[in-house]
Amino acid sequence: APSIVWFRDDLRVADHPALAAAVERGAPVVCVYVLDEESPGIRPLGGAAKWWLNGSLTALGAALDGLGARLVLRRGPAARVIRSLVDETGAGAVFWNRRYGGPERRLDAELKQAFRDDGLIVQSFAANLLFEPWTIRTGQGTPFSVFTPFWRACMHAPEPRHPLPAPEKIEPTDVATERLDDWSLLPTRPDWAAGLREAWSPGAVAAHERLRGFLADDLADYADGRDRPARSATSRLSPHLRWGELSPHEVWHAMRQRRVHGEGANRFRTELGWREFAWHVLFHAPELATTNWRGEFDAFPWPRLHPAALRAWEEGRTGVPLVDAGMRELWATGTMHNRVRMVVASFLTKNLLIDWRRGEQWFWDTLVDADAASNPFNWQWVAGSGADAAPYFRVFNPELQATKFDPDGEYVRRWVAEIGTDEYPEPIVDLKQTRAAALAAYEHVKAAA
Ligand code: FAD
Repeated sequence: APSIVWFRDDLRVADHPALAAAVERGAPVVCVYVLDEESPGIRPLGGAAKWWLNGSLTALGAALDGLGARLVLRRGPAARVIRSLVDETGAGAVFWNRRYGGPERRLDAELKQAFRDDGLIVQSFAANLLFEPWTIRTGQGTPFSVFTPFWRACMHAPEPRHPLPAPEKIEPTDVATERLDDWSLLPTRPDWAAGLREAWSPGAVAAHERLRGFLADDLADYADGRDRPARSATSRLSPHLRWGELSPHEVWHAMRQRRVHGEGANRFRTELGWREFAWHVLFHAPELATTNWRGEFDAFPWPRLHPAALRAWEEGRTGVPLVDAGMRELWATGTMHNRVRMVVASFLTKNLLIDWRRGEQWFWDTLVDADAASNPFNWQWVAGSGADAAPYFRVFNPELQATKFDPDGEYVRRWVAEIGTDEYPEPIVDLKQTRAAALAAYEHVKAAA
């Protein structure tokens, strides 16, 4: 009886433990991806994410073709789809790599139990994090809430395993697939994805090329250059990691193999650590996208939403150059430099006093790397309500940030061509006054703590 491999956020054929296990089992393999927009709690993908997914599934399909197999596409509530695929194919085993979000874990656990009750082989594997969330604990056995000791504990844990090679060949099955085009993942009217196409190539081949290029050419400048949005000093691997086109183990061991060291390498490894931390925090606090991680922030008196201010922020028309540059980069390319993400998030939550959840949702819709952990985790980090967060009273001053990190104004000019002309708007808020108002509002949180 064939094996089913259910692909999720792991759109690759190398270092894919579930696929490796299915091949090892020796029967034909059904490789399936399910577009699930119906199961309760599963957050529907944003527009930029759908664009990426379309490219990534195309690339995965080609990779599987090359191994003699094919990618089967199905749409619907995942549990029902996988069950009917088992019935349709008479499969004897189902394999997948683990997910760590709350609703996903529930769904997977229920399905696993049901299949086991039916006598099927079901196995799930560690594939997308370097350390499984339940293995990294404080001395008291609780999850970490502060990054530095968390990462220190990770560094004392057994080293992440070596990546697995891609299978040489996969025994195919003849199972009907839906057509990717019928899923309409790409924008049409209007087609806003020209900038995304220019900026990105989804898929594992491009991901590995990027990793090689980064380690060879850019890592040495990473520690210095990573905060400069005008430079391309960072890896730009985040969407590839988000979709699992590249595993963190592959990144980890590529660094080992190349024997990269020094400040850049340490810094970069630490950033991978922040990715781990965000997922571990989500694992222990599944409501991270909707609920303040620090409960006392529930007392924060968000004023009534000013829709025009939110729109100006989304469209990059706030009159604050670094904020507008970032928001326009995001809209055009589906990404934004990390330093600028922090600045625009601080501006939204502190100068505009708009609830961080509004910003998180906009990023969810527009980022190609938006994921269920890093996005809410970082929003809460900036807002002050999150794990190991920046203290609330740290209000980024976008003008000082620009002077420090974009001293020649190169990044701002790239995205705000009309700067310095009459066309560019006046700032929609006074930075100093709004900062003071934010600090006054924060008193409520302090009182609730
Ligand atoms: P590099 O500097 O090359 O870092 C290497 C890798 O480390 C990244 O690819 C990423 O996987 C990881 N990483 C780096 N910084 C962080 C971080 N702070 N948190 C978690 N992982 C990190 N990152 C996402 O992957 N998805 C998101 O949805 C996301 N939303 C964010 C929202 C806000 C408000 C902020 C301030 C940051 C957010 N980040 C998010 C983190 C960070 O901005 C991006 O990971 C980074 O800009 C990606 O660029 P890079 O791959 O060149 O990063």
